[in-house]
Amino acid sequence: GPQRIARDRHGIDRRNVSRHAIKVCEVLRQHGYEGYIVGGAVRDLIVGLEPKDFDVATNATPEQTRPLFRRARIIGRRFQLVHVVFGQEVIETSTFRAPAAATQKTDEHGRILSDNEFGTQEQDAIRRDFTINALYYDPLTEEVIDYCHGVDDLKKRVVRMIGDPQTRYREDPVRMLRAVRFSAKLNGQIHPETLSPIRPMADLLGNVPASRLFDEMLKLLTCGHAMDCLRQLREVGLHRGLLPLLDVVLEQPGGERFVELALERTDVRVRSGKSVSPSFLFAALLWQLVDVRWKQLLEQGEHTIPALTQAADSVLDEQTEKLAIQRRYAADMREIWFMQPRFERRLGKTIWRMIEQPRFRAAVDFLQLRAAAGQFDSVLAQWWMDLADNDDASRAAMIEALA
Ligand code: ATP
Ligand code: MG
Repeated sequence: GPQRIARDRHGIDRRNVSRHAIKVCEVLRQHGYEGYIVGGAVRDLIVGLEPKDFDVATNATPEQTRPLFRRARIIGRRFQLVHVVFGQEVIETSTFRAPAAATQKTDEHGRILSDNEFGTQEQDAIRRDFTINALYYDPLTEEVIDYCHGVDDLKKRVVRMIGDPQTRYREDPVRMLRAVRFSAKLNGQIHPETLSPIRPMADLLGNVPASRLFDEMLKLLTCGHAMDCLRQLREVGLHRGLLPLLDVVLEQPGGERFVELALERTDVRVRSGKSVSPSFLFAALLWQLVDVRWKQLLEQGEHTIPALTQAADSVLDEQTEKLAIQRRYAADMREIWFMQPRFERRLGKTIWRMIEQPRFRAAVDFLQLRAAAGQFDSVLAQWWMDLADNDDASRAAMIEALA
C-alpha cells in the first residue's frame, strides 16, 4: 500500500493551496468519490514554491464529474478531462488513468500513441513520469499519499523515473527534457539510473512532433532556471541537432552573450513572480540572426526599414516552420523588432504614435536588453523606459523638453 504522510512530515500549509482546488475535492467527496490535488502543485508546495496551477485527480469519470459543478466542461478527445472554472482559475480534473499496458498502441520505437484506460489511484501514480510528480494531497485529511517514495526523493531533491527509465523514455522521449527541467528547477540532481540512458537515447527526440518539442522548450526556457537547463542539456548531450531552437540559441555567431542576457532577465522575472511573453523571448532568441542580416542589407545600400523588414521576414520564414513558432507569436515578434530603429531618433510627432502601438512596452523592454548587450546607447534606452513608465502628462513634458 501507499505511504500516508502526515502534515508535520510533508509541511504543506493548507493556506497555500488554491481554495478552488480544495472545493473540487470537497464536492467530489460529498458525492461519494475521491478527489486529490496531484502532480506539480504538490511537488512545488512541499519545496515551498508557488504552484503555477492546480490539478485534481479523481476516481469519478468525466461524465460523473461534470454535472457536480456549475461551470465545468469536458475537454480532449483521446483522453477526456474536466475543466472546472472559477472566474480566472481553471481546475483541471482528470480521472485516474491506467499506465502503459500491452493493449496500448505504440509506434515502432515504443512511443505511446494512445492511452485512454481508466485505472486505480495506484495505476495512476505509476504511469506518471517521476516519483516527485506522483504525489496526491488530500485537502480533507491534509495527508500526502505516496506510492513511489516521492516525498523522500523530493526532500533529497532527486529526480527519479518511476519504473524502468529506458522503457519510459522510449514511451515518451520528452521525459528526457522534463528530467532536466525539474532537476534545474529544484536545484537538484537526476538520479544516476534515470540520467545514464539519456545520452544514448537522445536521438529518440527526433521522433517527437515539432509542436510538442516547442511546448516543452518553452516550458524549459520559462521555468525560471533557463540557464541551468541549457547548461545541463549540453552536459547530457541533448543540445545538438535534436532541438532546432536550441541550436539557434547556442550556436549564433557572436550571439551567445545576447541570448544569455535575455535568458538571465527572463529567469529573474519568472522567479519574482512576473509573467514572460513567449513572443518577447523568441524575439530575443532570434534577434541576432535578424540583426546580422539587417546589417548586411544596409551595407548593400538598402534603406533602414525595408532592410529590417526583409531581414525579419527571411529569418521568420526559415525558422518558424522548424521551430513550430505559431503565427500569433511571429506577428508580435515582428512588431517588437520593427520598433527598434524608431528608437534611434526622437521626433515629437512620431513618439505619440509609437506609444499607442500595442507592443510598445515590450519593444522598450527589448531595447533595454539591446542596451545591456552594448547594442544601443544606455542613456537613450533609459529615456524610453522612463517614457513607457510615465503617465501622459509627464510624457508630454519629456517630449516637450526635446524641442
Ligand atoms: P509544471 O506545470 O510546473 O511544468 P507539472 O509537474 O505540473 O509541472 P505538467 O506537464 O503540468 O507538469 O503535468 C502534470 C503531471 O502530469 C505531472 O506532474 C506528471 O505527474 C504527469 N505528466 C506530465 N507529463 C508526463 C509525461 N510525459 N509522462 C508521464 N507523466 C506525465
Ligand atoms: Mg502543471
